[in-house]
Amino acid sequence: MYCGSSTGADPVFRRAAAELGEELAAAGHGLVYGGVHVGLMGVVADSVLAAGGTVTGVMTEHLVRAEVAHARLTRLEVVPTMHERKALMVALAQAAIVLPGGFGTLDETFEVLTWNQLGLVSSPVVFLDVDGYFGSLFDFVARSVDAGFVSPHHGAMAQRADSPAAAVALAAAPAAPFTPKWQR
Ligand code: AMP
Repeated sequence: MYCGSSTGADPVFRRAAAELGEELAAAGHGLVYGGVHVGLMGVVADSVLAAGGTVTGVMTEHLVRAEVAHARLTRLEVVPTMHERKALMVALAQAAIVLPGGFGTLDETFEVLTWNQLGLVSSPVVFLDVDGYFGSLFDFVARSVDAGFVSPHHGAMAQRADSPAAAVALAAAPAAPFTPKWQR
């Protein structure tokens, strides 16, 4: 799960994050995330734990030293670099659900999309579109497909859900079959 290390200005984001945690735990899915207690990241982790689910956090040493580690995780993995953090999160998770967030959220999400595009991983990527937050991002994906920079198949890998329950259902479904980025 990728989302903001801030909670956002509107309480609607925090509510959606809490509901996503409840849905994940109710469906029996564990949570893999960035391991901090702050922002929407902390809200989802707290919600999964409160509902009796398991939570694995993946952090760098510098984030642990900055004392933003969540204190009650089921499991905490500490790695040296941000690149190793992202790679381990991808390796431990079967799917990616994306909530509203900032640059870090987008960086992590688009890395998983590009790794899917290259066939390095096979993972559903589902944006939980809280309050239309990702509307302009989906407009941009459509634009990049229209302009011929992203194939329609790869553009469709960025899936959109309008509720936490729908996001969990899409994330649990099989990923789309691999289509090579470059045809010979
Ligand atoms: P943000 O969406 O910017 O609040 O960040 C969400 C998560 O992304 C946090 O766990 C950050 O530590 C992480 N993050 C922030 N910047 C980067 C980056 N350049 N590369 C990878 N992860 C990042």
